[in-house]
Amino acid sequence: MKILVINCGSSSLKYQLIDMENEEVLAKGLGERIGIEGSKVVHKPSGNDKVVIEKPMKNHKVALEIVLNALVDKEHGIIDSMDEINAVGHRVVHGGEKFADSVKIDQNVMDAIEECADLAPLHNPPNMMGIEACQELMPNTPMVAVFDTAFHQTMPKKNFIYPLPYELYEKYGIRRYGFHGTSHKYVANKAAEMLDKDLEDLKIITCHLGNGASLAAVKNGKSIDTSMGFTPLEGLAMGTRCGDLDPAIITFLMEKENMSIEEVNTLMNKKSGVLGISGVSSDFRDIEEAANDGNERAQLALDKFVNRVKKYIGAYASIMGGVDTVVFTAGLGENSPVMREAICSDLEYMGIQIDKEKNDVRGKDTVVNTEDSKVKVIVIPTNEELMIARDTENLI
Ligand code: ADP
Repeated sequence: MKILVINCGSSSLKYQLIDMENEEVLAKGLGERIGIEGSKVVHKPSGNDKVVIEKPMKNHKVALEIVLNALVDKEHGIIDSMDEINAVGHRVVHGGEKFADSVKIDQNVMDAIEECADLAPLHNPPNMMGIEACQELMPNTPMVAVFDTAFHQTMPKKNFIYPLPYELYEKYGIRRYGFHGTSHKYVANKAAEMLDKDLEDLKIITCHLGNGASLAAVKNGKSIDTSMGFTPLEGLAMGTRCGDLDPAIITFLMEKENMSIEEVNTLMNKKSGVLGISGVSSDFRDIEEAANDGNERAQLALDKFVNRVKKYIGAYASIMGGVDTVVFTAGLGENSPVMREAICSDLEYMGIQIDKEKNDVRGKDTVVNTEDSKVKVIVIPTNEELMIARDTENLI
């Protein structure tokens, strides 16, 4: 079975065609600048050079048409006809409380995704555009929606409710939802597989540390808490997002700096996090380099980042009644031995001991704890596309 995985942003369309027989990626690519000038698709068939197709794309439907043509192209195509695509799996950011799992797409599901748009106004509408484009161009191919929020729908109410007037939860759905669910689910499953254990028997803390970053407490295979909340702004200090704050800072700033709602929003989402503290960059590589060169604010940004991750690890061990596995994934989690070591330092009292030599690894499934560490520490490159393809295969 061949599955096309699609992830649409407001002006982008990422895709992978995966052969589920061996879970091999046959082709992948990215449509960029959709709806604006200079749009193009960069298509990479497996084992062949990438092809850049520069064409105007007024919307996601045109972009998808170009992608489908590239997949069946005589020269750089990878399949003979579109009929070979058995199903399409769509990444959808917000499933609200309506979706606790992936789901086969029909009109009711599409209506429900539209209803969740209020909760993710920047993400769900472009996700829907991808779904509608597929529906028009490949009307007989089954489609599945895989939600970033779904894995966290198992959180108990006490963990997802905010200490705000309860009516706000009822009226607007203001509660914690959590994100990166597909990644947390993938790495939790992979960790169990690597340890040859049943996921049901494990207490895992999954650390998805990329530009956006979140932790999840996965107990007996279920997410029981996660650091992102109503939006992906809560929790850790991130590339440009502030994470947890005293909410009083917002009204203070609006008053003192005469800031508008939009300006505060931009400040918290785009100008804060490790970029805000360091003033150097939102990219951890740049910050690590600056810190090595003696830049104190760069070091402070890294220390703050580490401080938050440690706090959440402690918190999640405490609510799970212990931890037996810590997983590191995403850009920083997969690729920065220095930051993994900093996060795990002083956690020996919890039974977490990292092996420096084993930890000197990048982007490879690896167990990096010492022989006598009570807690397993594992690096696992995330693979959200594969998780989406697996869910899609299961559902059709
Ligand atoms: P997102 O999907 O949220 O954009 P990624 O998971 O791709 O993020 O992670 C991007 C982040 O990972 C960047 O901030 C980058 O600094 C960090 N990163 C990637 N490689 C390394 C590395 N070798 N060392 C340190 N940080 C890295």
